Amino acid sequence: MTFPATRPRRLRMNEVIRTMVRETRLSPDQFIYPLFVCPGEGVKKEISSMPGNYQWSVDRLVEEVRSVKALGIPGIILFGIPEKKDDRATSAYDDYGVVQEAVRALKREVPGVLVITDVCLCEYTANGHCGLVKGDEILNDESLELLAMSALSHAKAGADIVAPSDMMDGRVKAIRTLLDKNGYQNTPILSYAVKYASGYYGPFREAAESAPAFGDRRSHQMDPANALEALREVDLDIEEGADILMVKPAGPYLDIIRMIRDRYPYPVAAYQVSGEFSALTAAGKLGWLDLPRTMMESLIGIRRAGADIILTYFAKDAAKLLS
Ligand SMILES: [Zn+2]
Repeated sequence: MTFPATRPRRLRMNEVIRTMVRETRLSPDQFIYPLFVCPGEGVKKEISSMPGNYQWSVDRLVEEVRSVKALGIPGIILFGIPEKKDDRATSAYDDYGVVQEAVRALKREVPGVLVITDVCLCEYTANGHCGLVKGDEILNDESLELLAMSALSHAKAGADIVAPSDMMDGRVKAIRTLLDKNGYQNTPILSYAVKYASGYYGPFREAAESAPAFGDRRSHQMDPANALEALREVDLDIEEGADILMVKPAGPYLDIIRMIRDRYPYPVAAYQVSGEFSALTAAGKLGWLDLPRTMMESLIGIRRAGADIILTYFAKDAAKLLS
């Protein structure tokens, strides 16, 4: 049947009908909120390129996570800004490092909150690279041990999930093996399986103080032009023991999220990264976009593409609008 018998507008006539036939829904329990933890006490330092986001010392972080949980957001992902950086990223796998201390405090002070830790070396290496470096090469196999040691120290501190973001080949297997050997066979791995070498990470590098001193990340992160390669990356991570698959960034890669959702029977996470957050926030501040509306539209788009879980700096603002 066609017009005039068929009129799609009938189901758009009022909000009650629109709500009834809505295909995709957003809920705070689909969000994970990224947070940056730094040394010190009483620190809440705003990240200038990410308004409303801060570097927190552990004591202030605990308060912040309480308020995150109160909004119905089930979990957070932690990034660390260590006291010192060196060639071997020793603070990354120090059992008394800033992330490890934060995990212990959160598990003690905010029961029930899901604590995910980002596992990479770039916040901890003096040169800001994701692995050990020789000349201008980022070494793969030599970096795996340090990544696995980092994941293990997070698990020992009480992390509920570890999330390797480094994009070294074989890291999921190295982490799974070391966790299992030490009795952490029940700690899931959320793998940044498909992570593109993206310009949208710009503001994050200020937040995590992890900009590379030379070169870039194109020798390990994926070329934005490639989709089939994403399938190969996911195949490998599943084989190596990944429990949840992540695509990063989210907005410019909705086709990749959909492709992975359709092909793999695993939970899919998408990371709406700092640049996606900051671009919308800046346009909102200038009055060029309606920020609450475009924020919600960006999130529903990521869900519609197939993400089960969204890591987003909008988690708190969106949860407030949803309550
Ligand atoms: Zn990194």
